Amino acid sequence: MEISAMKIIVTGAASGMGRYFALNLAKQGASVMASDLDADGLASLAEEASDVAGALVTTIANVAVEDDVIRMVQETVDAFGTVNGLVNNAGIFRDGLLVKLDKETKKARKMSLKKWQSVIDVDLTGPFLCTREVAAHMVESGTKPGVIVNISSVSRHGNMGQSNYSAAKAGLVADTKLWGAELARHGIRVGVIAPGFIDTPILQGMRPEMLEKMLLPVPLRRLGTPHEIFQGIKFIIECDYFTGRCIDIDGGCVI
Ligand code: NAP
Repeated sequence: MEISAMKIIVTGAASGMGRYFALNLAKQGASVMASDLDADGLASLAEEASDVAGALVTTIANVAVEDDVIRMVQETVDAFGTVNGLVNNAGIFRDGLLVKLDKETKKARKMSLKKWQSVIDVDLTGPFLCTREVAAHMVESGTKPGVIVNISSVSRHGNMGQSNYSAAKAGLVADTKLWGAELARHGIRVGVIAPGFIDTPILQGMRPEMLEKMLLPVPLRRLGTPHEIFQGIKFIIECDYFTGRCIDIDGGCVI
């Protein structure tokens, strides 16, 4: 599918990779609905996108809130006539061990249910709601073809300290496989990218020695860039024979 034919929602578009994806899809001619919780970040994105080849509009929406997602999809249809694409990019992490023994009290400190649920809500329920609403609109309106790209993580393989995040990101890969199978009859393809460690605001402020340690399992010994993940998104959109599969873009990282 041509990028210039996309009327596409990018979630988590105010910062990091989502911002890069939204801006560059619009530069390449797509009509982009950039959504996020961060109003200031969206405003500065809209300003930067004022002279793109395509179009970029913004909306504030929490991907974990059903009514927000329904409104976001309707606003996209109102702005562009329909919607035929989605990048499920919004994500958070709240790391912690499942249990950790407090040496003084000899009591186990546990990952709280709140910490578990907050990540599942944004990183798994969010893509479920967004994909469901975009697919429902496409099926009802007869819009086809369409493409949905999910952003997972190398943590999908199971990363210590990330019970919540690993579960959500692995679940997203499983859902990509089944959504690809379920939605093919409606002309909708679904792909997923599992990035390794990427240079975004999440990592800024990290101590250099921590960063060095983090890169030890990465054979290419550097962070990836948002552009390198965007190359994967372009491939998934443009290759009409790709669906239900995961592309690992992680410098060869093994965890
Ligand atoms: P980022 O810079 O923190 O950007 C994420 C954006 O999502 C932020 O603007 C954030 O807004 C927004 N967001 C958070 N919760 C949201 C919600 N409930 N609804 C809507 N928007 C929400 O992150 P990033 O590093 O670019 O990561 C983007 C995606 O790649 C995430 O799914 C992440 O898990 C995945 N990933 C990142 C890396 C990496 O190394 N950076 C590696 C693998 C996978 P606020 O700032 O207001 O919270």
